[in-house]
Amino acid sequence: MKDPRDVLHAVFGHSAFRGLQEEVVRHVTQGGDAVVLFPTGAGKSVCYQVPALCREGVAIVVSPLIALMRDQVEALRQAGVSAAALNSTVSAEEAGDIRRQISAGTLDLLYVAPERVSTPSFRRLLEGARVALIAIDEAHCVSQWGHDFRPDYRELAELGARFPGVPRIALTATADAVTKADIIERLELQEARLFSTSFDRPNIAYAIVERDNARQQLLRFLKTHEGESGIVYCLSRAKVEETARWLAGEGLPALPYHAGMDAALRHAHQDAFLKDEQCCLVATTAFGMGIDKPDVRYVAHLDLPSSIEAYYQETGRAGRDGQPSDAWMSYGVADVVQRRRMIDEGNAPEEVKRVERAKLTALLGLCETTDCRRRAILSYFGETLPAPCGNCDTCRSPVDSWDGTEAAIKAMAAVYRTGERFGTGHLIDVLLGKETEKVKRFGHEGQPVFGQGKDLDARVWQSVFRQLLASGLVVVNHDAHGALALGEGARAVFRKERTVMLRRDRPRRATEARGQRAPVAADLPEDAFVTFQALRAERMRLAKAQGVPPYIVFGDATLKAMALEQPSTLKEMAALPGIGEAKLERYGAAFLSVLRQAEG
Ligand code: ADP
Ligand code: ZN
Repeated sequence: MKDPRDVLHAVFGHSAFRGLQEEVVRHVTQGGDAVVLFPTGAGKSVCYQVPALCREGVAIVVSPLIALMRDQVEALRQAGVSAAALNSTVSAEEAGDIRRQISAGTLDLLYVAPERVSTPSFRRLLEGARVALIAIDEAHCVSQWGHDFRPDYRELAELGARFPGVPRIALTATADAVTKADIIERLELQEARLFSTSFDRPNIAYAIVERDNARQQLLRFLKTHEGESGIVYCLSRAKVEETARWLAGEGLPALPYHAGMDAALRHAHQDAFLKDEQCCLVATTAFGMGIDKPDVRYVAHLDLPSSIEAYYQETGRAGRDGQPSDAWMSYGVADVVQRRRMIDEGNAPEEVKRVERAKLTALLGLCETTDCRRRAILSYFGETLPAPCGNCDTCRSPVDSWDGTEAAIKAMAAVYRTGERFGTGHLIDVLLGKETEKVKRFGHEGQPVFGQGKDLDARVWQSVFRQLLASGLVVVNHDAHGALALGEGARAVFRKERTVMLRRDRPRRATEARGQRAPVAADLPEDAFVTFQALRAERMRLAKAQGVPPYIVFGDATLKAMALEQPSTLKEMAALPGIGEAKLERYGAAFLSVLRQAEG
């Protein structure tokens, strides 16, 4: 049996295992069953790929998406591993090829779609074959409580029964207790050892900015990611289209993606996102599941997600490769109104709506917190971060809170005195004593609150209303389109039995992102940065020539190491992370010559 560390180094080019990887690998290599719960980017693939290469026979890997399989197989082949995928896109000829390789014992990993597993043809394919292990990727698909339920996953326990004594490993990035219990029960993994780690994603920097001009704020944010790829999420298809068009007009490489688009075009845009190094994909949340692109440098939300779970899953698509990445969201009063309305006007039964409202409230709490965002997120998932993270907006530039009781009373008086029939725009005009046409039409200049709010400016009043809505002191009145009404607890504030602490929104400029250089390269000195760019160009050239995404050639971390270490021989290059033997042979010389030129 081969040694796992040797395989890790020679094939994958990694110098050491990370976190619990080594324990999982040793356990499975020795024949044990495992359930692996690691967050995205922690390196789950290594947990079954290394044992697959250490043990005799072919490893069966069940994977739910064709795109995922294709990527994994391509990456393995580039690393010199014999791997294949069996799914609906495979021709009879290719299937025959796979059969031959299995009988000859030359195939190391076989990826298979879940619906194939219980077919007679797959059964025959494996007859008499030596199976190294069975890996079930994205194992949360077995649970109907999760977001990606796949009925075929329910049949997978049977696969284990067919190969007694063969170790099984189930992997997922979904950690909630119900899903975990479902995986163990449905896949009959009661005897398996459980490996789980913190779900923190330390390389992702969180920022939630108060919206004032969403487009300009987005543009300024995207400017800090020039030359990189990322995702901009919008709630509606129309907004996806508009935003992509506008960004393209501003000279950014933006493309739309949503389920209502022509399939061929949608596919082309997804492909561009995967294969170009700089593509801003503007999408509805339909996009992302099964996208394994490791170098997504940012995820931006222009609209509020539905819950902290959704937010974490969507932002989690950034920075799989562990390099610095941004999760950015702009958030305003309209989001609260819109989300509340979507719940209230939806068709779900009342008890489901209650859960949805509670989830939204938790998310609004995250948006309005003056504490560390990461700490708030992790505590929602039941984890405690001992200290503030230092890598979120509230840690980097702390926000104050202020006693907003007086302001809340004035704002709520404006709501009440105008009959609970108006939105924030008009209410703020009333507070500021503006004699607009609307104010005159309704005679609101005669109300006692008229002009009572001149001590604060419009932006602060926006912030007050937003926070009152987030806390439920003010609610959306659905009988009058977008109007505000008093909520539970308002009375206690009027009576001064309850104080209202508010977040002091940051002055506009302070909400902007850091320096000019994109985060992934932020820590590179100037000359190394220039080299890094030259290496990226070479990577692009090599990737294009083969029709594969650039990260299949080398990851950003590897290029950064090359730019910093400046290896001048293949031997020196082999010591860098992510360069196994096969890739060294294939690409080493090309990159060495780029380094030589950059030096000269
Ligand atoms: P997951 O499936 O958990 O989201 P992946 O298996 O895709 O994560 O791995 C994420 C990234 O981490 C990949 O770029 C991979 O090359 C890298 N990686 C995994 N294990 C190691 C390791 N031991 N050392 C260095 N990089 C690693
Ligand atoms: Zn923090």
